[in-house]
Amino acid sequence: MDELAQSDPSPAAETRWALARAATLCEQRGTRLTDLRKRVLEIIWSSPVPLGAYAILDVLRDDGRQGAPPTVYRALDFLLEQGLIHRLATLNVFTGCRRPDSFHGGQFLICRDCGQVDELNNPTVEALLRAEAASRRFDALSQMIEVLGRCPECRREAESHAR
Ligand SMILES: [Zn+2]
Ligand SMILES: [Zn+2]
Repeated sequence: MDELAQSDPSPAAETRWALARAATLCEQRGTRLTDLRKRVLEIIWSSPVPLGAYAILDVLRDDGRQGAPPTVYRALDFLLEQGLIHRLATLNVFTGCRRPDSFHGGQFLICRDCGQVDELNNPTVEALLRAEAASRRFDALSQMIEVLGRCPECRREAESHAR
């Protein structure tokens, strides 16, 4: 199972899928998905919108953990290194990866109004950019595309207000 199964798209099912996938991948790679790292991943997946580090820290404190910012950053770094989450630079937030098996830059549609993020992984776009970079003799190490805009729900909302 490479990609997030579409049969049960409920947030709880998605979170369960992501945690199980992360556990398997870490085991295969010989890395440790500690209790804290797992909890941080769970917090990110349970949220309807991508979260910043301090919002994650708040949830950990609600859990009763004595989390200090560096602890959270270290857990986030691990999850980023393992390709289990992405950092969206535009908003400085973290989102769960829907294709954690293969490392990729990713392309994201970010709603400016509600903060929801849609991850696209279009290999054609990735190859096109790589070719463009190569044609300029640019050695591309990673690529990540963030498209800011308005999601369908927020568009509908805005249109109904405009009437
Ligand atoms: Zn991804
Ligand atoms: Zn929206």
